[in-house]
Amino acid sequence: MAAPTETDVCIVGAGPVGLFQVFECGMLRMRCVVVDALDAIGGQCIALYPEKPIYDIPAHPSISASGLIEALIAQAAPFRPDYRLGRQVVRLAREPDGRLRVGTSAGDAILARAVVIAAGAGAFGPNRPPLDGIEAFEGRSVFYAVQRREEFRGKRVVIAGGGDSAVDWAVSLAEVAAAVQVVHRRAKFRAAPESVVRLEALAADGKVAMVVPYQLHGLRGTRGVLEAVEVATLKGEVRSLPADALLCFFGLAMELGPIAEWGLALDRTHVRIDPATCATNVPGVFAIGDIATYPGKLKLILQGFSEAAMAAHAIHPLVFPDQALHFEYSTTKGVQGIAA
Ligand code: FAD
Repeated sequence: MAAPTETDVCIVGAGPVGLFQVFECGMLRMRCVVVDALDAIGGQCIALYPEKPIYDIPAHPSISASGLIEALIAQAAPFRPDYRLGRQVVRLAREPDGRLRVGTSAGDAILARAVVIAAGAGAFGPNRPPLDGIEAFEGRSVFYAVQRREEFRGKRVVIAGGGDSAVDWAVSLAEVAAAVQVVHRRAKFRAAPESVVRLEALAADGKVAMVVPYQLHGLRGTRGVLEAVEVATLKGEVRSLPADALLCFFGLAMELGPIAEWGLALDRTHVRIDPATCATNVPGVFAIGDIATYPGKLKLILQGFSEAAMAAHAIHPLVFPDQALHFEYSTTKGVQGIAA
């Protein structure tokens, strides 16, 4: 087996908050390895809503989720993070010298003075509807997120769900798709009221068809190519909706996955931290971003950024026990990248 990679900090999760942790650690001269279960960097921003504009990132009146991730990658680049993608962190153990050993599903290991869990919703995945044979359609004509709106241009799209994602994408795809049909088991939607108003206006104009109260019932098509989506009422009345694509928005299955086994103090699916330092109850292990909880926590990217700064300062004495840390502004010290 290959020798473990030695670093200062191992970050679990390459979402926006994990990426900013690389920058904050780098500014304090700490090197990072970042591990993510997904094949792409960017967490929820890239996996779930790359083209959506975000309006509450300070100093950016509007920035697309993918634009934010690009900027965070560029900001972290001088510190040469070692990204290990497509592998889940599965093990955490302490070495006799006090360092933490992180093991991944790919069989590699990382030895670090500190571990920062920036794992968002944990090992997240979409809630899949229980439809026979759905696997054959996934990635071809059944999707759980929209990567590029243009892929649906001229297509007949069925959207299932009643939350923000279903409503927002119905409104957005109505501009490019040949037809949009929204399937929801109730007539009422659990989405931002102004988005629901827009959806209802599109329905009144005949640009979106509302298929309520119906639930998904079955898929018709061959070799992953969809021809129709069958829907049914609670009484079992079945309708067939001609379709090229089905988008299912039933939320995320939030599972802590292996993180739940590491002896961390948990609050349901979240890791409890000291909000002053982002330290967990396990020495050397910190948690930031969506996965971290404390009184008053808001699951916002901007709050995760602030946690990354606090965690970096709390980690510094673990990596450099003999060096006093003098607080300095970035304007004073500049960005001194880490050499190859
Ligand atoms: P995530 O982005 O969830 O990234 C965590 C990463 O950790 C993932 O890539 C995951 O694969 C990885 N991971 C998990 N477990 C493991 C493991 N064991 N091993 C390896 N990797 C692991 N926030 C805002 O502030 N403003 C908005 O306008 C906004 N709009 C949103 C719109 C939508 C549709 C959604 C879904 C969310 C929105 N959010 C918004 C929330 C925002 O995306 C999250 O707060 C943010 O992504 C959290 O970042 P994170 O880095 O903590 O976690």
